[in-house]
Amino acid sequence: MESTSDIFNLYKQKTRRSAELFKAARTVLPGGIAHDARYIQPHPIYVDHAAGSRKWDVDGNEYIDYFGGHGALLLGHNNSDVMLAVSEQLEKGTHFGACHELEVKWAKQVQKLLPSAELIRFTNSGTEATMLAFRLARAFTERPKILRFKGHFHGWQDHVAFGVSSHFDGTPTPGILPELSREIVLGSTDSIEEVRARLQIGDIAAVIVEPTGGTWGQVPLSEQFVHDLRSATAETETLLIFDEVISGFRCSSGGVQACLGITPDITTLAKILAGGFSGGAVTGRRDVLQLLDMHYGNDGTREKVPHQGTYNANPVSAAAGLRTLQLIEECDACERANASSSRLRASLNDIFRQEEFPWVAYGTYSGFHVYTNPEEITIPPGDFDAKVSLKQIKSQDSNLIGLLRVALLIHGVDITGWPGGIMSAVHSSQDLDETVNAFQQSVRMLRESGAVPPR
Ligand code: PMP
Repeated sequence: MESTSDIFNLYKQKTRRSAELFKAARTVLPGGIAHDARYIQPHPIYVDHAAGSRKWDVDGNEYIDYFGGHGALLLGHNNSDVMLAVSEQLEKGTHFGACHELEVKWAKQVQKLLPSAELIRFTNSGTEATMLAFRLARAFTERPKILRFKGHFHGWQDHVAFGVSSHFDGTPTPGILPELSREIVLGSTDSIEEVRARLQIGDIAAVIVEPTGGTWGQVPLSEQFVHDLRSATAETETLLIFDEVISGFRCSSGGVQACLGITPDITTLAKILAGGFSGGAVTGRRDVLQLLDMHYGNDGTREKVPHQGTYNANPVSAAAGLRTLQLIEECDACERANASSSRLRASLNDIFRQEEFPWVAYGTYSGFHVYTNPEEITIPPGDFDAKVSLKQIKSQDSNLIGLLRVALLIHGVDITGWPGGIMSAVHSSQDLDETVNAFQQSVRMLRESGAVPPR
C-alpha cells in the first residue's frame, strides 16, 4: 500500500460490475445516484440482495451493513414476520384509493407505543412529515416563523435544506426562496437562554429539534437542553416538534421521548414506522392535529389545513409498519441494538488507541459516529460533547472519510458518510468482532498509504 490510489485500485478490482453499473447510471441519473448520501468515490457499490445484518453486491462481495435502510431497518433486512405480512397484503392489492382496516390498526399501534400521539396523519416520508408539521404549527399558532437548530437534519424540503452541513449563516441553498429562508430562525444549541430570549418575541410557531442531537446525534445535544427547550416553548406557547424520524421506535419502543420523559406537542415519524417501506406520519396533540379534520372550521370561524398524498397510509407500508411495531413492542429489539452499539463504540475506541489514531467513536442509543479529530485534541472517553464544536464536526476532511469508507468496503463493512452508522437488533457478536477487525485493517491501510501521518 504505497499511496491512496492503491486503496482505490483494490476497491475497483473487487467491484468491477458496480463500476460498470455506475458508468451506465451516470448517463441517466444525475451524478449516477438517487440520494446524495449514496455517493462514494470512485463509484458506489450496487447491492443485489440483503438478509439480516448483511448485504451482497453485484460482484458477490458480502458486507456487514451499517446503513440499515437509512435507519428504517431496526429488525434487519427481510425480517420473516414482516415479509409475511407484506406478501399477504400484496395478494390483496397494493393500493385501494380508499380507507382500509390496516391504517386504523397501524395508527392504533403507533398510539399504543407513543402516548403523545393523540391523533395521527400518515404521509409518505419524513420530509413530508416535517413539511406538514410546519404547516400545522403555523395554522395553529397563527405565527409565521420556525426555529430549528444548525446541524439538525429534517429532510430535504425547502424550509430545512440549509444550515445542516453548510449555509450555517441561514442563507438559502440553490433553488430555495430567500423569502422562505427568512422565515426560518437558525438557532444554536449552545445557549438555551438565547433560544428562550428569541421565543419571547412571540413570532415563532414551532421549534423543531432532533432530540438525540443533530444528524442522528452526530452533533451531540445534552438531555438538559431538551428539557429546557420543553419549558421554554411551553412558557411562550410555542409548539415543540420532536423529529423522531430516526429515533422513533429505535431509542426505545416509545422513542426518545419515552427515554427523556418529555412530551412534545408534535412528533414527526418515518423509517421504522413503515417497516422498510415508504411512509411517514405527523402525530401529537389532538387540538393541533384536528386542524386536518374535514369538519374543522364548519362554524366558519377558522379554515381547515389541506393535506393530500396518493400513497398516504399505503396498504403495503401499513402491513410492514404494523407488524414491525408489533414486534418492537413484543421483543427487546431497541435494547439489543443499543447494547450492540455501545459495545461497538467502546471496541472502536480500543482500536484507535492501539493503532495510535487520535480518532474517537461516540454516540448514543443505537448510533455510532467517528470523529477523525484533525486537530488531534485530547478527548477523554465519555466527554466528547464538551470538546468538539458543530463547526469542527462538520468540517472534517471528506477525502479522508471517503477513503475510510472505501477501505472498510474492501474489508466487508458498509458505513455511512458522517462517518458512522445505525445498528440493528440483529447485528451479532460475530458481526461486531468482524467490524472491529475491519476497522483495524482499514486504519492500518490508511496509515500505510500515507493518508494519515506516520507515528
Ligand atoms: N428527519 C430526520 C431526523 C431524518 O433523519 C430524516 C431522514 N434521514 C428525515 C427527517 C427525512 O426523512 P425522509 O428521508 O423519509 O424524507
